[in-house]
Amino acid sequence: MTAKIMDGNALAAQLRADVARRSAQLSARGTPPGLAVVLVGEDPASQVYVGKKVQACQDAGLYSVLERYGADLSEEALLERVAALNADPRIHGILVQLPLPKHIDAQKVIAAIAPEKDVDGFHVASAGALLTGTPGFWSCTPYGCMKLLESTGIDLRGKHAVVIGRSNNVGKPMALMLLQKNATVTICHSATADLKAHTLQADVIVAAVGRRNTVTADMVKPGAVVIDIGMNRNEAGKLCGDVDFATVKEVAGWITPVPGGVGPMTVTMLLVNTVEAAERAAA
Ligand code: NAP
Repeated sequence: MTAKIMDGNALAAQLRADVARRSAQLSARGTPPGLAVVLVGEDPASQVYVGKKVQACQDAGLYSVLERYGADLSEEALLERVAALNADPRIHGILVQLPLPKHIDAQKVIAAIAPEKDVDGFHVASAGALLTGTPGFWSCTPYGCMKLLESTGIDLRGKHAVVIGRSNNVGKPMALMLLQKNATVTICHSATADLKAHTLQADVIVAAVGRRNTVTADMVKPGAVVIDIGMNRNEAGKLCGDVDFATVKEVAGWITPVPGGVGPMTVTMLLVNTVEAAERAAA
């Protein structure tokens, strides 16, 4: 079997076209959706990520501001900026790029963002909304994975989904989203005794570990859907995921490539959440 590819670039383009359409409607009413991205420090990866997010906003017709601060910005000053953005009617979404310098408590900063502007979905109120199935913003990466799953047309009801990884922003919300779609969900992590025994039972595998070759072909049930969130580098410095793509694609029914799978969906869902926030504010 050769798996069908879940093409994140193609799906992202479709969703971004819809974001651009909704953004144009809001702009025509005098309330363009606005995203504020706050970057503290000089972390090279973070600089690339925020650049992509701001560019994506511009491409889709959203208003965006990038606030850059030196690594010596105090926690108090950052909290003041977040408060100002909370009060700014042009801004519907606030994203504070992580990681923050060590002297700043990231949880405190995220908690200071108004939940209705928490388009990253990291606030405890957003996590609580997901847990209880009430309206709120979903964390962008797992939300993007749900869109990829939806694009296959497969009904998740009664399917067994195995999520590998239990981080607050990726693994746990992923598991809750799958649960909300009536999948039976198993969460695996570094203390899981026999990972393969679990993955072999799975109709859907989502790998969110950050370690190459965590999922190999012998761990996958024929026809399973395999989503690879991991972002790693191989010996040649090439971007790769947690799944051994070359061999797993011969067993799986559907698979996401890295790059070109989950990655483009993460920024896209940020745009979707921002437009949604602006529509809610304008309603
Ligand atoms: P994280 O906070 O480091 O969490 C990794 C998880 O993997 C932890 O729950 C850990 O278990 C688990 N784990 C580690 N070794 C394991 C093993 N041998 N077997 C089973 N589980 C194991 O990372 P994260 O933020 O969730 O991100 C995960 C990966 O996704 C990273 O590669 C990251 O770069 C990538 N990512 C990609 C995107 C994207 O847009 N494509 C977005 C976000 C993240 P414990 O909890 O027991 O330690």
